[in-house]
Amino acid sequence: MIRIEDIIEKVEANRPSADTDLIRRSYFFSAMHHRGQKRASGEPYLIHPLEVADILAEMKLDEISVSTGLLHDVVEDTLVDLETIRKYFGDEITRLVDGLTKIATISNLSKEKQQAENVRKMVLAMITDVRVVLIKLADRLHNMRTMQFLKPEKRARISQETLDIYAPIAHRLGMGKVRSELEDLSFQNLYPHEYKKLANEVEARRAELEAALSKIKETIRAKLIENDVPFVEIQSRVKRLYSLWKKLRSRKLTIEQIYDLIAVRVITPNDKKCCYLALSVIHDIWTPVPERFKDWIAIPRDNMYRSLHTSVIGDGGQAFEVQIRTEDMHHIAEEGVAAHWKYKESKLGRQEEDENLDELRRTVEKLLLPLVETTEDNEDSEDFIESLKLDLYPKDVYAFTPMGKVLQLPRGSTPIDFAYAIHSEVGDKCTGAKVNGRIVPLRYEIQNGDVIEILTTSNSKPSRDWLNHVVTSKARSRIRHWISEQQRRESIELGRKLLEKEADRFRLSPKKLLGNDDELKRIANEYGLSRGEDLLASIGYGKTLPRNVLAKHLGAERFAELDPEKKKEGTLQTGFKAVKKLIGLGEDAIIVKGVDNLLTTRARCCNPLRGEPIIGYISLGKGIVVHNRNCKNVKSLMVNRDRIVDVEWAKSEKEEIQSVRLLATTENRTGMLAGITNAIAEIKTGIRDARANVSKDDIGLIEVTVEVFDKKHLDKVVSSIEQVPGVINVERVNF
Ligand code: MN
Repeated sequence: MIRIEDIIEKVEANRPSADTDLIRRSYFFSAMHHRGQKRASGEPYLIHPLEVADILAEMKLDEISVSTGLLHDVVEDTLVDLETIRKYFGDEITRLVDGLTKIATISNLSKEKQQAENVRKMVLAMITDVRVVLIKLADRLHNMRTMQFLKPEKRARISQETLDIYAPIAHRLGMGKVRSELEDLSFQNLYPHEYKKLANEVEARRAELEAALSKIKETIRAKLIENDVPFVEIQSRVKRLYSLWKKLRSRKLTIEQIYDLIAVRVITPNDKKCCYLALSVIHDIWTPVPERFKDWIAIPRDNMYRSLHTSVIGDGGQAFEVQIRTEDMHHIAEEGVAAHWKYKESKLGRQEEDENLDELRRTVEKLLLPLVETTEDNEDSEDFIESLKLDLYPKDVYAFTPMGKVLQLPRGSTPIDFAYAIHSEVGDKCTGAKVNGRIVPLRYEIQNGDVIEILTTSNSKPSRDWLNHVVTSKARSRIRHWISEQQRRESIELGRKLLEKEADRFRLSPKKLLGNDDELKRIANEYGLSRGEDLLASIGYGKTLPRNVLAKHLGAERFAELDPEKKKEGTLQTGFKAVKKLIGLGEDAIIVKGVDNLLTTRARCCNPLRGEPIIGYISLGKGIVVHNRNCKNVKSLMVNRDRIVDVEWAKSEKEEIQSVRLLATTENRTGMLAGITNAIAEIKTGIRDARANVSKDDIGLIEVTVEVFDKKHLDKVVSSIEQVPGVINVERVNF
């Protein structure tokens, strides 16, 4: 059990002139009246007020606060009344204890109403004296830390209340450290399974993340020193579980898809210039992610938070956040109002101290008063708690059109949601937005009271990218609808071209088939499709081969007769391949997780082979471009990480052929080309093209384009070429 003298020592260290006798008297009073009471753990009850007092001493609060911490449960849980407190400890402590004491239980009030009344009372007390909220948060923090002995239902109820009311209040008051701890403890008690699962997942990656972090820190340290930028400390952390969990849930991601699992913080000396210097060094090392930079130094948040935030793409293509702030800003970020309190009081004289306390009170009032003001004329206490929750942690935001019309949208909505909420047409034609007169990116998160003007142009179209920036179902479904319509239009057009081309090869007039709706419909029906357009779309999607459509059109006999393939022995597959090349991968070689019928194209830069690790990038107009995961271009594409999609190779019954170009460097001797082509033919692999050259320094350069099924096949081809005498090296070259 913590000793009262330890607490007194802490207070004295910060405030040499503190009235420690008051603290001792409070301690004895509390010990006397809580005597015999036990906590759920079976320990003496006194532990609780002692620990609360200790948290307050750690926050460097004054002796009045620490004493109140010791006395805070006396009126509520023992027979002592406020008048007795007043007699022994005076008005100030009495007022604080009163603010912390729940209203007497009135049997005809519902539980909800009692909770509401208690919160209302507390918020009002907080506004008169900020110490009420600091003591209440310390009280809640200790209760949350020692919940394991309570029944699960009670744990869940208290945790929910903490998430709904106390963590947001701590956030409002800028108390980052307390807020984080309250949130993580609530999460752990409210969703124990999910907490454990996530904790294990993070734990499994801990070593890897820590290694990445220490490398990043080392790089920053070296560069700051190299550029003579002063700094105090570089901190790093794996993100908190609760915020991670919220992110996973709201965006429906898995932990592998969260890129900014880690974060780094640079603390500089107390000169904001150092922050901007450090920022320029960071941006010099790594590429910043556009739109993720925030300057909370130039424009501090309401709760006094100041810091620079930026996200950069690290060496492995992984984005991470960097926060940069001075030591003073850091204290405020962690302690919020509490930092302000001790900071002002310890350094200044009495007069100034009072002025500063006044200023602090005004700040707190500004932060908390709206909570009770909105419900002033509201007599119903259940409504009060609801609107309090709404205000602390609102689910909806209200925004205005320039004409003054109010739209209610879920929190997290963007101008795109707003545009679709006005009208589908406005959404479809939306190109930008002005919020309160200033142009903002379309991913801007709408705040309460924003006046939003949507900019449109008649020829603009929705973008697939928008799906990552909308939260309303109306916007989502309209964008999806538009994309699938658009894909269908593109596919019909592509299908038409492919069929024309194929008809051309059969020396048929394309018009005969394409201009004949009935015939197209007839063939479509044979495929189980209802309209000719559906058939063209199916060709465009790469599901139906135009060659087969012609076969159905001509009948087997005429088809065989006209078939250009028949005339060229041994190249039976070229027509087939031409089609494949045109439509990219064809025959569902790659499937995009969770989506059907998307056009996919292999990236030309790396030409991924079946079996290699791949990643998809949504390129407007080209559908999904599939890259090798190791492709050097993938790193720069990660900047638009919202456009990265998971893709995988489909299991195909049929083996798909892909052309790969190889370059062999050889000794310059005769018969090299023949030797290589023979080696390839021996393992029954097709050769598309082969040519030989001699470099200036008398090295043979032989380029062959081979047809392979997958990575394994290619490896076999490469090793068979390597075994040809005279071959020095074989490498894959891309187009
Ligand atoms: Mn308590």
